[in-house]
Amino acid sequence: MLAAGAFSNRLAVTVGLSFPIRVEALQMIRSSPAPAGSLIPVVSAIRRKLSLKQSHDGTFLLGGGWPGDVIEDGRGYRLRPASIEGNWNEACAILSAVATQRREDAWCGLEAMSADNIPLVGPVQKMQGLIVATGFSGHGFAIAPAIGRALADQIAGEPVPELDGLNPDRIVSESAAIQ
Ligand SMILES: Cc1cc2nc3c(=O)[nH]c(=O)nc-3n(C[C@H](O)[C@H](O)[C@H](O)COP(=O)(O)OP(=O)(O)OC[C@H]3O[C@@H](n4cnc5c(N)ncnc54)[C@H](O)[C@@H]3O)c2cc1C
Repeated sequence: MLAAGAFSNRLAVTVGLSFPIRVEALQMIRSSPAPAGSLIPVVSAIRRKLSLKQSHDGTFLLGGGWPGDVIEDGRGYRLRPASIEGNWNEACAILSAVATQRREDAWCGLEAMSADNIPLVGPVQKMQGLIVATGFSGHGFAIAPAIGRALADQIAGEPVPELDGLNPDRIVSESAAIQ
């Protein structure tokens, strides 16, 4: 079972495989704490790159796919000041409670983006016995519980047609990325 996110290809190469995934550094910002209850839902906004929520400690968490840079060894990142500014401005534009706070922290997470931005989940024809679950392309939190259950059923030999569209061979065979 290979489910190592952005590090999946590092492991795959040890058995002579390579998946059509690229690593992206996605940026987050944390603000100073505002009064609790300033924002209840998680907010996004049409035509804005924004995901905005308030944590229990009052801090706002800002994201939305703003890029940092993956550093050369593929294990770390560098923040992009322009992404911090852009993300902060988007949040301030729709919620004035953010604008009265300070930016306290910023960081990136490394994410495996598949070539078609659809996860690679299931057995790999070119290596009998190998199951992958990677390339979640920015949506892994939301679908992880369902994927976990479905994949467990599939491994136990049950038919799981819901996973057909995620089968790695759809893209691996086309791109010949597995050598
Ligand atoms: C900033 C940011 C915001 C996001 N926001 C959202 C969101 O709002 N909603 C959403 O649905 N998704 C979101 N995502 C995407 C989501 O986080 C990922 O899709 C998801 O975490 C991918 O899960 P994964 O298990 O494939 O990889 P990961 O969560 O990266 O887990 C891979 C694991 O493999 C381990 N590993 C690596 N190498 C080895 C090894 N050699 N041996 C053993 N273990 C190893 C790592 O330590 C890690 O624990 C966001 C991602 C980022 C970066």
